Amino acid sequence: MPVPHASSTDAAAGAASRLAVLLPLPLAGAYDYRVDASLELERGDFVVVPLGKREVVGVVWGEGRGDVGDAKLRAVAARVEAPPLPPVLCQFVDWVAQYTLSPPGAVLGMAMRAPGALEPPRPLAAWALAPPAALPAGMRITPERQRVLAVLADGPPRPTAELAREAGVGMGVVKSLAQAGAIVTVQLPPPAAFEIPDADGAGPPLSEAQAAAAAALAGKVAAGGFAVTALDGVTGAGKTEVYFEAVAAALRRGRQVLVLLPEIALGAQWLDRFTARFGVRPAQWHSDLTAAERRVAWRAVATGSARVVVGARSALFLPFPELGLIVVDEEHDAAYKQEDGVIYQARDMAVVRARLTGIPIVLVSATPSLETVQNVAARRYEALHLPDRHGGALLPVIGAVDLRTDKPPRQSWLSPTLRQALSETLAAGEQAMLFLNRRGYAPLTLCRACGHRLQCPRCTTWLVEHRLVGRLQCHHCGFQVPLPAACPSCKTEGMLAACGPGVERVAEEVAALLPAARTAVMTSDTIAGPLAAEALIRRVQGHEVDLLIGTQMIAKGHHFPMLTLVGVVDADLGLHGGDLRAAERTYQLLHQVAGRAGRAERPGRVLLQTYDPAHPVMQALVAGDRDRFLAREADDRRAAGMPPFGRLAALILAGPDAEAVDGVARALARAAPQGEGIQVLGPAPAPLAILRGRHRRRFLLKCRRDIAPQPLLRDWLGRVKIPGAVRLYVDIDPYSFL
Ligand code: ADP
Ligand code: ZN
Repeated sequence: MPVPHASSTDAAAGAASRLAVLLPLPLAGAYDYRVDASLELERGDFVVVPLGKREVVGVVWGEGRGDVGDAKLRAVAARVEAPPLPPVLCQFVDWVAQYTLSPPGAVLGMAMRAPGALEPPRPLAAWALAPPAALPAGMRITPERQRVLAVLADGPPRPTAELAREAGVGMGVVKSLAQAGAIVTVQLPPPAAFEIPDADGAGPPLSEAQAAAAAALAGKVAAGGFAVTALDGVTGAGKTEVYFEAVAAALRRGRQVLVLLPEIALGAQWLDRFTARFGVRPAQWHSDLTAAERRVAWRAVATGSARVVVGARSALFLPFPELGLIVVDEEHDAAYKQEDGVIYQARDMAVVRARLTGIPIVLVSATPSLETVQNVAARRYEALHLPDRHGGALLPVIGAVDLRTDKPPRQSWLSPTLRQALSETLAAGEQAMLFLNRRGYAPLTLCRACGHRLQCPRCTTWLVEHRLVGRLQCHHCGFQVPLPAACPSCKTEGMLAACGPGVERVAEEVAALLPAARTAVMTSDTIAGPLAAEALIRRVQGHEVDLLIGTQMIAKGHHFPMLTLVGVVDADLGLHGGDLRAAERTYQLLHQVAGRAGRAERPGRVLLQTYDPAHPVMQALVAGDRDRFLAREADDRRAAGMPPFGRLAALILAGPDAEAVDGVARALARAAPQGEGIQVLGPAPAPLAILRGRHRRRFLLKCRRDIAPQPLLRDWLGRVKIPGAVRLYVDIDPYSFL
């Protein structure tokens, strides 16, 4: 058969009449298709191909593999006229698939998550003057008609409404001119979805330290090439202002920029600051976009018309053709770990994308992850430090409240010290925040007659009471029931007791304590979406709220100048459970919450309620000694061979039948890899032993840092047959140990 296409790129060359096409589906790999002579295709081109009885859009992935005979080979139906997937993105998709042991098509699916974006947007109909020769003779020219013709004689074609508005006439005048043949329709390209950010817009004058850091980052952008820089500085040091300079530097060089943020931090305040600096809003990419917004944003990235994208982790898979810089803000945030579908760590994969693309990346945090700290220590990453809060604002004074001696009254959760501080703060006309990372009213309901605890019927977990809606909820599977009057076990009425506090219960206590205070509760239950969150934040900024009570939603990024007191109701909450990163994460979260206090002229104060004031996390927070804490964490992890000093991968088995799951677990245990520097822990019932009615067992594969777990896993899993009723999840670099 003749070679069907003239183009000879590395991917397509010599492929004769077959090419591999990757489909955005969780299949084992790319499929071969025949290509007719009329089609010129290169790696990255979008094509329509038959699959079974349907047609699917896929991406040309490279040479055919030849594993399907010519007779059975089906033909590519058409090339899609859309900007191709940039070659580095194809490379990145393969890399992520290899690393996470995911089907490449599942990863490709994340890069194509904008149905319809491949079709060009519809052109806009507009009016232009008819060519002079075609102008109707003897047409009546009223002053109104004259104004319309003058506008068009003087400027570009315009759509009806705009033309009428500029000429100061009704739309009927425009239509009558059209009927008379004096103006004709033309098709305009659709308007640009995003305006071009102004790299030279004015930012605030930077302090010396800020300017030095900004210059260093701009230098990386100018030099080009792969480099990782950790930008480290306390909350309020001006890290955002500093990395904006790197963004500006990339824009000036004609490159696109991706800023990743945890979804929860991607709010109005960040967008306002971007707009203040660059004159326009950036393109956004997050889970709240409508399908239409998604389509527009994806296409604008692919055509290069979106110059800066700010997005949550999935923005990492957008098809930037001219990417010149990646910024990962709040790089330590666990929200960068995607826990379902393709399980990946977006911060780590962002570093990979930067490396494949050959561009700089900046990792920003006030509480960098131990991984990043270790990479700096090993000189794989560079670090830039901003020492102080901007404008001389002092860091808040952090104190521990020992709940063993400073006891809250019975059935209350706020200690005398915290109560007093709240009263003083509000009396001084300042604002306060109470932080408790637990939604609902109470985490446990038990029967005082028989001791029965109300548990989710589908999960190994207690039901959480949500008193505002009068229901018990499972926070893992969403199961809900109305709060029963009698104990489901012993049927005694009126003996069910709420145990422990959630934010609703703290709000109740505050209402009794400070009846005049204007309070607001901010959790994912009380706030319907980003717009509602924005509205509440504006109210707090405008000092319409004295006391804000909330979960981690209130911890991030917000800047409230009048907020001077932060009370942490249960600082020990995150420390239990024995998770590898429990201490690190608790430190990061509490540090971030604490950073909300005293961000402007008025000094801030933070009170951490704890039963364990001697715990290294509390000590580090009180002493403001982050580095000693990190050094200690590093020592512990090094001694245990845990990340970042060793590698971990988790295997999770789940299925409706415990016997079947255990059978697979035993088979896997028998086939487990062995060797120097390799350890397999498990199988063990997962802490959430039953989730959504499915029984779960876990293995942990632990390797020395110089041993890659992926080949071990491929070999291991290849040796065990897993029946359809049992599902296997692979989690490389696990963050959740549930
Ligand atoms: P970080 O990101 O380190 O927490 P931000 O960049 O959010 O710090 O800065 C904290 C506050 O200080 C913001 O309101 C910011 O606008 C302000 N700020 C930072 N640097 C400057 C500066 N050089 N001039 C004026 N305001 C600044
Ligand atoms: Zn449940």
